[in-house]
Amino acid sequence: MKISDIFNKDRTVFSFEVFPPKRTSPIESVYGKLEEICALKPDFISVTYGAGGSGEKNRTCEIASKIKNDLGVEAVAHLTCVNSTREDIDRNLEQFKDSNINNILALRGDIVEGVEPKKDFVYASDLCAYIKGKGDFDIAGACYPEVHGEAENEVEDVLNLRKKIEAGAEHLISQLFFDNSAFYRFVERTKIAGINVPIEAGIMPVTNKKQIERMVSMCGASLPAKFAKIMQKYDTKPEALRDAGIAYAVEQIVDLIANGVDGIHLYTMNNPYVARKITEAISNLL
Ligand code: FAD
Repeated sequence: MKISDIFNKDRTVFSFEVFPPKRTSPIESVYGKLEEICALKPDFISVTYGAGGSGEKNRTCEIASKIKNDLGVEAVAHLTCVNSTREDIDRNLEQFKDSNINNILALRGDIVEGVEPKKDFVYASDLCAYIKGKGDFDIAGACYPEVHGEAENEVEDVLNLRKKIEAGAEHLISQLFFDNSAFYRFVERTKIAGINVPIEAGIMPVTNKKQIERMVSMCGASLPAKFAKIMQKYDTKPEALRDAGIAYAVEQIVDLIANGVDGIHLYTMNNPYVARKITEAISNLL
């Protein structure tokens, strides 16, 4: 099924994100967690590509295939282009086709210091247009409620985002955020810019302090005082922090659904416990 068709129903889409294991671990090491996560029956699960470093690239396809073909949940494969040639992308697309994966989150990827980007694709919109020309893929794009770190300002960023839609992206998944009002302001900007595709809100529950600090330094999400208080209070109590993090994420999601969000994309961090707790808390609201 194409993901853009899922949005045509009269309810809030609920999806998850997972990541492949590091090259040093066997691919099967995540299968148990994937089974638990898939048993929660989200609308789809997206699988990151090369996030966090070396060598996991082909594993995106393997994990997406496991999710779709063995565990029966629709899958979206992330694909980055900044360090890829056209031939690299062709190889990936063939692999996806052979594995029955026809939903792709088309990304530029981060520019890594000291690594000269390849020249074939400069922006995610170039990749969207290229994939569009290859036939039968449904394409999603990334968006940034608190503005992408390299963008000159929020207006430029949203105008650039529109190019991604014009190039073929049919829905958007947002960067994580902890302040819903930043998301609502962003949605308003997209409407003014004439962007009318569905936008899923990216929600990451805090499961441990280090992980959140790393994510926040990478993506620049602002931390509301209420959230910072939780981190501070339960700093040394991992289970309390996890439970408070789940409660915070659920509160964010309830507010987003009440305000008519198109979808919720939960960054599960491959944690079935957290995914289950949140699914149980919100499934009657979708
Ligand atoms: P783009 O859309 O190309 O935007 C990058 C910058 O260029 C922005 O500042 C934008 O304003 C600007 N820009 C875009 N088009 C133009 C144009 N035509 N002219 C001028 N400026 C332009 N990274 C991974 O490595 N693997 C993953 O699996 C992964 N998954 C992600 C999932 C989500 C939901 C999100 C939000 C991000 C993910 N990322 C992932 C991170 C992403 O690769 C980085 O944020 C990257 O820096 C930007 O990627 P993009 O696709 O948004 O780029």
